[in-house]
This record gives sequence, structure tokens and C-alpha cells, in this order.
Amino acid sequence: MTDTSVLNRPGSAGTPPKPQKDWALFLDVDGTLLDIAQTPDGVVVPADLVVDLTNVFDALGGALAVVSGRMLSEVDRLLAPLRLPGAGEHGATVRLPSGQMDEIDAKVPPDWVEALNAAAADKPGTLIEPKTHGVVAHFRRAPAEEAFFSELCARLVAGRAQEFEVLHGKMMFEIRPRTVSKARPVERLMTVAPFKGRRPVFVGDDITDEDGIRAAVELGGAGYKVHQSFGGPDGVRRWLKTVAAL
Ligand SMILES: [Mg+2]
Repeated sequence: MTDTSVLNRPGSAGTPPKPQKDWALFLDVDGTLLDIAQTPDGVVVPADLVVDLTNVFDALGGALAVVSGRMLSEVDRLLAPLRLPGAGEHGATVRLPSGQMDEIDAKVPPDWVEALNAAAADKPGTLIEPKTHGVVAHFRRAPAEEAFFSELCARLVAGRAQEFEVLHGKMMFEIRPRTVSKARPVERLMTVAPFKGRRPVFVGDDITDEDGIRAAVELGGAGYKVHQSFGGPDGVRRWLKTVAAL
């Protein structure tokens, strides 16, 4: 679901927004900071990204968060030695600026993960990514399996559809608890310093980011989709240097 009123805000018509000192910046990782790779492990972290993010963190008084679908431990590994406030697993796990964690209880049943692993075992190019709260079936290298995994994921959640949902992301299906969304880290972090009192700005590339964008807009901020406003992750990375220079 795309909210065009969000996409049509000033600065979003193919032009990156002009950075402001009073922002609290929320950044998705894959497809936003990093180019998407064939597999989650295949991403490359450009040499100067961590330095630029550190400078953005300083420029915004620490009001910088990463909001990823990955587990937070994975994000930390990619951006080491940085450990930014933010969220993993689309908001299931939120790390506050104090380092304190705020995590939901819901978890995908282990037998669903087993069923997906068993199915992927004889489908070359597919990959099951188990997380603490959800599970992802990737088929980027086996696009013909899309219908199969769509059907399997739907069948798995069918009996518990009030608790779990299937997301159709970029070349993947993800089963996650319904209580999870990228709105959660935005709403939670905006209640605490140094985020509180600032203007939330969310940048993301995928459907799950639209919850974060909506939350940022509802809190008086703005949101930008990578493709429309930056062209791609390389455009986001160039723009970050201008945020760092604030
Ligand atoms: Mg993304």
C-alpha cells in the first residue's frame, strides 16, 4: 500500500530532501543503505558507510536509528563497530539509546520453520532465514518457486491468521507476528531522548517501510522511498554525506 501524499511531499519528486538539524532519522538497511544482494549474506558494506553514519549520528545529536528486517545482531555485525539505536525484525526488537531492549513476546512456531526448511531442501536457490520472531523464505535465485512458497506460507499461517501474517517483500515471503511493524520503533524511540521533540524522518525501500513512513508522518515528520527520492542505495549513501555535514 503506497500513500502518495507521503511520496509527494517536498523533496520527494526525484530530489533527496534537504537535511535539517532537528531531524530524528530512521534508516532501513537492505535496499536503502546497502545494495540488495542475491542472498542476505552477500551484501557488501561500502568502506565509508560506517564513518558516514557515525558522522550523521553526531550531527543529529544521536537521533539516528536503523530499522531493519534483519535481526539486530546481524545489523550490528554489518555496521560494526557501530551499535545504533533502532530495530531488528521489522520492529519486533527495539534497542533504545540507553542500550535497553524492548522486545515483543510473539514467535513463529518452530514447526513452521521446519516445514519451510524441509520444502527448501530440494529447491535449489531457495533459502530459509529463521529469525527470533519470524521466518523468511527467499527465492531471489529461484523465482519459479514464488507460487510454491506463497501457497506454503499461507497454509502455515491459516490456522493462526489473527496472530501471524505473510508479507510479500522483494523476492521473499516473510511470516511475522501481526503485532510487529516498523511503526513500532518509530513510535517507541520518539518518546525518548535524543529522539523526543525532533522531527522523525524515515527512509526505506520496501513495503514494510511504509508502516515506518506512516508513523513518521503521523508524528509530524516525513518519509521517503528510496527509488522515488534517491534513485537507489548509492543515492542514499551520497545524501548521507550531506546529512553528516550539517
Ligand atoms: Mg529494505
